Amino acid sequence: MLTDDEISLLVNKKFREGVRKWMQAEGEKREKNYLHVSSFEYKCVRKVWYELKYADRVPDVEDTALLRMWIGTKLHETPITDNHEFRVEADIHGMHIGGRIDEIFEIDGHKYIIDKKFVKIIPSQPNDHYMTQVMYYAVLYYLMTGEFVDGVGIHYFVPVMTYDASVVTEKTYVRQLTQEDILSFKEFVEDQVLQLKTSLEKDTLPPPTRTWYCQYCPFSASCVNDSVDYVEGDKK
Ligand code: SF4
Repeated sequence: MLTDDEISLLVNKKFREGVRKWMQAEGEKREKNYLHVSSFEYKCVRKVWYELKYADRVPDVEDTALLRMWIGTKLHETPITDNHEFRVEADIHGMHIGGRIDEIFEIDGHKYIIDKKFVKIIPSQPNDHYMTQVMYYAVLYYLMTGEFVDGVGIHYFVPVMTYDASVVTEKTYVRQLTQEDILSFKEFVEDQVLQLKTSLEKDTLPPPTRTWYCQYCPFSASCVNDSVDYVEGDKK
């Protein structure tokens, strides 16, 4: 007969297996007919290139990250505005790019693209890569609808149960945009996509964009190896 501890371990194991199975099913439902905006959030074209070339090499998500993803996905499901999970997509240099905007708020006659992020601690300023993601959305929204939004932002939320009122569990950072801001970012997006497209067509490795993210990048080992004799434009 099993002990209480053994049963407890088995329940945990089955729980994680259930979540993993659910995440896999969710992954299969994900739109596969376009490049996802989230691939570009670290502004590294080489990473997107690896994702396309070596999709099968992406390691399995470890258990704790899996549970975080599960909680985040479930919390995202609740619609906050009428424009919940608003799908945007556009062709840029012949490549199809898209994503889903979490929410579009209409306030005082102005539109704001807001992405929801669930974190352990509210940051003192919005993360650059999240802001990049919402700027991509603003560009795609413009390309798709011909309309400029008035701002983008991140709504941070700490999904913890606490009765301590001093703990900050929610904060929204908004950046108001001019049409010029969006058009200027559009040029950046077009440059990135063109770099990617050219590298894919010529089968050459795009240049790396080294940032703090590299230590978490699933392709860091390949990237370091490939960089040893990387010369811009060389075939790898
Ligand atoms: S390790 Fe850094 S530079 Fe290399 S692909 Fe990943 S994000 Fe880009």
